[in-house]
Order: sequence, then C-alpha cells, then structure tokens
Amino acid sequence: MHIIGRRYSRTRSAKRKLKRIADNEKREKRYMTDCNHCITKRLAANIDVQTYVLEDLTGIRTQKNKGKKFNSWLSSWSFAQFEQQLKYKCELHAINVVNISPRYTSQTCNVCGIIDKESRNKSRYVCVHCGHRDHADVNAAKNIRDTYARSKQSGQAAFNQPIGEAITIVQPV
Ligand SMILES: [Zn+2]
Repeated sequence: MHIIGRRYSRTRSAKRKLKRIADNEKREKRYMTDCNHCITKRLAANIDVQTYVLEDLTGIRTQKNKGKKFNSWLSSWSFAQFEQQLKYKCELHAINVVNISPRYTSQTCNVCGIIDKESRNKSRYVCVHCGHRDHADVNAAKNIRDTYARSKQSGQAAFNQPIGEAITIVQPV
C-alpha cells in the first residue's frame, strides 16, 4: 500500500480494504455452501448406497497451524460443513455415514497393502513395491472403503449395520 499523508485517508482506505476482504470471504463461503448443498443432496438421493465412509478429519481441523491461510481454512471449514450436511440428509434417506481414521490412507497401496510415502507423488499413486498405479485420491478412497469393511468384519468397530452392504466412497478433494 502506498503512503497517504493524511491519517484520515489512510484509515478510510484501510477500512475499505478490510471490507473488500470480508466481502470476498463471504462470497467464497456462500459459493462453497451452495456446492456442498448440491453435492450432498445428490449423494443422499442415491438409492443404491447404504453407507458413505468418510475420513475422520477432526484432528486436522483443530490443528492450529492449518487455520492461517484462508484457502486452507476454507477447505477445512467447507469439509466440516459438507460432512454435517451429508449426515443430516442421509439420515432422512436411511443411509449410514461413518467415519474412519485417516491414518496412512493416502500412503498405503490398495493392492499390496504396503505403506510407503514414496509411492505418492501429488495426485499420482505409483506403488514402489508392486507397481500398482492409480489416481492418489482414488487409491486413498479405496483404502478408506476397505478399512471400514475390514473393521466391520473383524467386529472392532461398534457399527451396527448388516454385513454385505454396498459401500460408496467419498473423498475430500
Ligand atoms: Zn503395491
């Protein structure tokens, strides 16, 4: 910002700038809310689905260093809102929404099961052990689905749905 001699002008200019930032944030938030409503509505209306499995991102959301940048804050806020909307809409359609631990879901190979962060390079997943290739988000989403299915089969988790239901994947972008 260039220097303006009079205190009065500087204050007014700063106020205008702050207002512009606040307006942009409001607009972005409104846009994300609309997107979330649209997506969750469609997901909840899918009659072929019995369960949606989401990563439990509570820990990530409460990390202090995550909130500094607006985009990062917006995406955490947006995913929290997405989850909340999906849950209440799915409840109306008798679809389950469950959470699993996000540990290693993006580093684990969905084919050989080996955890290796070297296998993931941004959006690409190429397993350095068995050569399995996939979009990193798709590989992670399959791990989320399988982790949930395994935990149910072994009876570790306190989920009370019948075994053998269809599981669909939702992965935050
Ligand atoms: Zn592999």
